[in-house]
Amino acid sequence: MTLVFEPQAPVLAPTSDGRLFPVRRLFCIGRNYAAHAREMGKDPDRDPPFYFTKWAETVVGDGTTIAYPPQTKNFHYEAELVVAIGEGGANIAEDKALEHVFGYATGLDMTRRDLQLEARDKGRPWDTGKNVEQSSPLGLIHPVGEVGHISQGEIRLTVNGVEKQKADLTELIWSVEEVIACVSQAYTLQAGDLIYTGTPAGVGPVVPGDVICITVAGLSDLTVTVGEPTHG
Ligand code: MN
Repeated sequence: MTLVFEPQAPVLAPTSDGRLFPVRRLFCIGRNYAAHAREMGKDPDRDPPFYFTKWAETVVGDGTTIAYPPQTKNFHYEAELVVAIGEGGANIAEDKALEHVFGYATGLDMTRRDLQLEARDKGRPWDTGKNVEQSSPLGLIHPVGEVGHISQGEIRLTVNGVEKQKADLTELIWSVEEVIACVSQAYTLQAGDLIYTGTPAGVGPVVPGDVICITVAGLSDLTVTVGEPTHG
């Protein structure tokens, strides 16, 4: 059979040991740091974690210039620890969850905040706020064999060298084990899935020309530049 058109190439994320990690799906945890929940006007609590999904094709690598997206006047950064799943599974127990992790990376969950909040307040889906082209920059994925499991240490974001977000991964309301267990109850996790674990307080807007840099202790830095709007 002849293909109607060439299929989209797989999204391949580089690893720190020179390999490529095929990206499958993105699960992004919401309000996973208490201070960020409060700045979004919500009470932090221990309700079960919630999350939304994004397309794999929203992933871009370190050094990318991401276009300022259409239909927003409030495009926000969110620095996040990202968990790369290496072995799938359903109903994963918390005490087995780390066995499913391939590695960890620094990530950004770029957000059209105006569209997200409008959707949230109207009880509508968050897709247009969150699932945005080029909105999921990802740093090098470091295998567990190299860096171990990441559960503590500083997560920090600067814009043009000015510190905007700074927290410690111990402040995560829901741990890596807990979010893996949670997502695997609703979906069969697959190798290649990425879990963006949520952002600390201090989110804010960027404009074309801004340079965003995220550091997570033990992992490679991630730097992206905000480009001009390219969407008519
Ligand atoms: Mn986020």
